[in-house]
Amino acid sequence: MSLDNIRIVLVNTSHPGNIGGVARAMKNMGISDLALVEPRKYPHDEATWRAASATDILDSAKVFDTLEAAIADCGLVIGTSARGRTIPWPLLDPRHCAQRAYAEAGQVKVAVVFGREDRGLTNEELQQCNLHVNIPANEEYSSLNLAMAVQVLCYELRMAHLDGGLIDNPLAEWDMPPATADALARYFVHLEETLSEMGFLNPKAPKQLMTRLRRLYTRARPDEMEVNILRGILTSTQYQIRQRGADEGAEPADAAKG
Ligand code: SAH
Repeated sequence: MSLDNIRIVLVNTSHPGNIGGVARAMKNMGISDLALVEPRKYPHDEATWRAASATDILDSAKVFDTLEAAIADCGLVIGTSARGRTIPWPLLDPRHCAQRAYAEAGQVKVAVVFGREDRGLTNEELQQCNLHVNIPANEEYSSLNLAMAVQVLCYELRMAHLDGGLIDNPLAEWDMPPATADALARYFVHLEETLSEMGFLNPKAPKQLMTRLRRLYTRARPDEMEVNILRGILTSTQYQIRQRGADEGAEPADAAKG
């Protein structure tokens, strides 16, 4: 069932009680895949107490060193944010986000990523996401407690499930699965390296170039085959640049003789 394909990811949580509260919120709504990225205190008694009868969610939770590792196998990554960030990203409210996530979870793993209690997610973390979701809370105090924010999203996911998936899966008619977050992350490393070799990207003054390119590709949702083609273009470009560099660096044949 699609809810099984939904992973709740908590980044760098400070309070173990919140981790327990999240486990309970998830179990109440029938969601069980919990990933913890560098939790500050875990395992912890307070997490166990707050989880009440949802300790099985904690027992099966996986702990990761990086967000990249926690979302590596996901085809759709959704980042939560209490406020607007540096450059706009596709943004949905929890209801539409949950309908979309539930529809796609029929085919791919979906991650919903939550940030630190004090600082939320960094821009770099938010830029690893295809979509952002904001709970439209009181503008004068829009930041919810972490476990409560998870509850809102999990509730909407449950409603999408009980409604039998209101919207069609946008990936259903496609011939290839969307690239995973891991494949896209590796593509971005390769792209940045190639753009530097070409001299198009100045590593000393990168401006917002990679951010804008990330936004373009995460929005376009290339499939596995498309990312392979893009990687192939980069490899071929690098080959040409290096070949030219080698030709220019080589001594002319006559000079070598003389
Ligand atoms: N002070 C932080 C808020 C952290 S709240 C900031 O300004 O970013 C902890 C986490 O709960 C957030 O990272 C997010 O995952 C979730 N959260 C809290 N309020 C939210 C809201 N209104 N919309 C979406 N997510 C929210």
